[in-house]
Amino acid sequence: MPRLPVFAAVLFVAPAGGSDPPPVANPAPSAGWVKARAAAVDKVLDAEAADLVGLYQHLHTNPELSLQEVKTAARMAAELRKAGFEVTEKVGGNGVVGVLKNGPGPVVLLRADMDGLPIVEQTGLPYASKVRTRDRFGNDVGVMHACGHDIHMASFVGSARVLAALKGSWSGTLVFVAQPAEEVVAGARAMLDDGLYARFPKPDYAVALHADPLTPAGVVSYTEGLALANSDAVDIVVKGRGGHGSAPHQTIDPVVLAARIILDLQTIVSREVDPLDPCVVTVGSIHGGTKHNIIPNEVKLQLTVRTTKTEVRDHVLKAINRIARAAAVAARAPEPVVTVHLEEFTPATLNDVPLTRKTVGVFKELLGGGNVRERRPLMGAEDFGRFAQGKTPIFMYFLGTITQDQYDAAKKPDAPPLPGMHTDRYAPVPEPSIRAGVRTECLAILNLLNK
Ligand SMILES: [Zn+2]
Ligand SMILES: [Zn+2]
Repeated sequence: MPRLPVFAAVLFVAPAGGSDPPPVANPAPSAGWVKARAAAVDKVLDAEAADLVGLYQHLHTNPELSLQEVKTAARMAAELRKAGFEVTEKVGGNGVVGVLKNGPGPVVLLRADMDGLPIVEQTGLPYASKVRTRDRFGNDVGVMHACGHDIHMASFVGSARVLAALKGSWSGTLVFVAQPAEEVVAGARAMLDDGLYARFPKPDYAVALHADPLTPAGVVSYTEGLALANSDAVDIVVKGRGGHGSAPHQTIDPVVLAARIILDLQTIVSREVDPLDPCVVTVGSIHGGTKHNIIPNEVKLQLTVRTTKTEVRDHVLKAINRIARAAAVAARAPEPVVTVHLEEFTPATLNDVPLTRKTVGVFKELLGGGNVRERRPLMGAEDFGRFAQGKTPIFMYFLGTITQDQYDAAKKPDAPPLPGMHTDRYAPVPEPSIRAGVRTECLAILNLLNK
């Protein structure tokens, strides 16, 4: 794609939802400005790095599941307080909000998420998690920071310390948000519902990073506009009439009907949605029946739906309902029950284009142009997108967290793939990742709160 001239930024229309973002006031900073600010950040960071790595290892060893982040939240609150922030706990469950007011100027929100995942860690690291706990369904599970949220938190605490130390060089307000329950996409909504934008200074900008297990530390990647997709969870209870497996004619078999519905659902993406609009319909779970020779009364399906545009989302959700009902009519079966779990909906993450360009300009000066890479959007979902609330410009970028050697080795033919996000062997390289996290967060924020 050709690069757009700079003035084209104001003409850009975000691909879905939201109104035109406000213009970003400050001009792009000079290379000299970035160099001077980076040197100031590094001076503080050099003194804090060992402690931040210790904090990271502590968080990594002691992960907590979504909605159970009690000790993690207490630690984040203590760290922000120690750095000089005014701290409020239990915002939307285990959420923590730290506010640092430092004169007139914009309000910038920085978000880190705190939850781990139900995974038994297999990294073999000396500080690997051995935690086991009960999940919210009562199952005994291992717990691991397999999404890098511990890197997010260590960088966040580092940035709080650095920005507090550099108060003389910026003006405005920081709102540091330690968010619970990202992995169940409940935390951002819970914090917003609990008055995050009413009880605390409302942000003019919101920024977050996400650890990337596939690029080296010191490299960041980003998208303009769409970064991550809309995500919906849908249940279908396929109804039939059970009976003996040897007498199917006396039954309405919901297993056969469910199979037909699953195949019919594949035609939504292939036949109903514009091929240029990304869309996924996955049936991730199917449960029905108890025994070889019993035709059950019902079969349960669980679907995930990913889209990038509101109108496509609306169409696909209606199509799922229509196809399930039509298949039931064709099989003379009772009406299926189709439930769209609106409480599990996650809106797409749309990076504000002027904010993205302004921040990426600084990252290129800071890290070198080759280390700041544009990437394609992902059909994954993240509840950071909620912080936009339709109008706040947001920017999420991906932070490399592996060594250059690991990256190079994986490029060789027949090399095994790198352990990805949510895998039991994802082991970020702590100090270089955290340093890059703090440097990029601080420069992004200093650029927005430049005196
Ligand atoms: Zn995750
Ligand atoms: Zn994550």
